[in-house]
Amino acid sequence: MEYISSRGGGESFSSKQAIIKGLADDGGLFVPRTLPTVDLEKLYKNKDYRDLAYAVMRLYLTDFTEKELKDCIAKAYDEKFTDDLIAPLVKVEDYYVLELFHGATSAFKDMALSILPHLLTTSMKSEQVDEEVVILTATSGDTGKAALAGFAGVDGTKIIVFYPEHGVSEIQRRQMITQVGENTFVVAVKGNFDDAQTGVKNIFSDKEFGENLLENGYKFSSANSINIGRLVPQIVYYFHAYFQLVRSGEMDLGEVIDFSVPTGNFGNILAGFYAKKMGLPVGKLVVASNDNKVLVDFIGDGVYDKNRNFVLTTSPSMDILVSSNLERLLNFSYGEDETREHMAELGAKGVYKADISVLKDFDAGFATMDEVDDTIADVYDRTTYVADPHTAVAINVSKKYRDASKSKNKMIVLSTASPYKFPKAVMKAVGGNDFDTSMDDFALVEELEKLMNTSLPVGIAEAIKSEIRHKIVAEKDAIKEVVGEILGLVN
Ligand SMILES: *Cc1c(COP(=O)(O)O)cnc(C)c1O
Repeated sequence: MEYISSRGGGESFSSKQAIIKGLADDGGLFVPRTLPTVDLEKLYKNKDYRDLAYAVMRLYLTDFTEKELKDCIAKAYDEKFTDDLIAPLVKVEDYYVLELFHGATSAFKDMALSILPHLLTTSMKSEQVDEEVVILTATSGDTGKAALAGFAGVDGTKIIVFYPEHGVSEIQRRQMITQVGENTFVVAVKGNFDDAQTGVKNIFSDKEFGENLLENGYKFSSANSINIGRLVPQIVYYFHAYFQLVRSGEMDLGEVIDFSVPTGNFGNILAGFYAKKMGLPVGKLVVASNDNKVLVDFIGDGVYDKNRNFVLTTSPSMDILVSSNLERLLNFSYGEDETREHMAELGAKGVYKADISVLKDFDAGFATMDEVDDTIADVYDRTTYVADPHTAVAINVSKKYRDASKSKNKMIVLSTASPYKFPKAVMKAVGGNDFDTSMDDFALVEELEKLMNTSLPVGIAEAIKSEIRHKIVAEKDAIKEVVGEILGLVN
């Protein structure tokens, strides 16, 4: 399998090289030259998540030996996941919820970030990269903790996470600042998420700083969702979800089903698109957005326009105006020349227009914050199932899609966070008018425990009672200096 830039460029790379590089030299994202196909009946024989992961991922990571890839999978999908199925499928009314939040940090990001560090260090070993790799990540919440947990204690790596001082939930902040591991560093930035992200991006493009780093035996890398090593592991759970429906007797192998996906950077749903192209019987992939509905407009009329107000919602992981993984879909649908043009237009004017007749695999819809509240309350009232706000967006949109399309296909809704990560939004929705939501997150999770009659996921419970280890605060224009100090760089 060869990887090339979504913007062309001609040069091709192995999967190991693409994982190490992260981004292509022309700024494009690595895409497989062609997508592999599968024999569904053969694949179905893999009952265990790890076996299925191997059978799917080996088609993409062809330069990994069997032992290398199986080792990575075994280290990632182990007892850190609190459910034996890794990603269990739950029937709720006339749809199914695929719970992707049973990993170490209770977020869907664990599905990819528990394996990326192993794919990366394996790649570096065989490509003879001797430098210690330094992961720099700006986070608006979930990615930071999942990346810290994934890289903690992994030999040959250090990870530095930057989060906006007042821009993440109390639970998310506590999860990060209690992180153990000598190779982990967490920095609060006096600014918003964009300030943190800009600071990190500036470091990546600072040639002089990069050279100084090499002299000190370090090399930067990033853990964000453009890395092909994050995308490939996500393809697995689409097959896994489908096979669970077959195994439970709900349908026969070969039946066509739909997926509704809470979408931000377009990584999750793109993995579903790749699964479909590989041979998974999928009807529509439904993009579910919140008030930041730039993708819904794009799929509706082909105009991608990021020039609009940014709305802070109750589903913050989907508050995004530039969905970076969409570039991989553009590459697949329109080819490299048009992708390069559209990305240039997006950079210069913030808008481009494409032909939507080739986007038939997708449908799209959005839910407002009021609709999200109503959906959480309504689903709870009728079934006692508690959905987090991101999942509720996808449930709401899946219903709108089914009403409008009259599709009779079975529907799987992807669930991307545990309700315990967003206790305020959930308790406000289900607690009724008299409920006092002025209490802090730590009191609210106790209320949620009573309501759900389950106990807090261990990762969150431990974070609440653990010692605070990370106290660095940085001015937004001093991010580079902080990195220099942490790494002990000599100028
Ligand atoms: C990251 C994230 C999303 C968005 O996923 P993409 O792959 O970026 O589209 C949705 N929900 C939650 C809770 C997330 O953490």
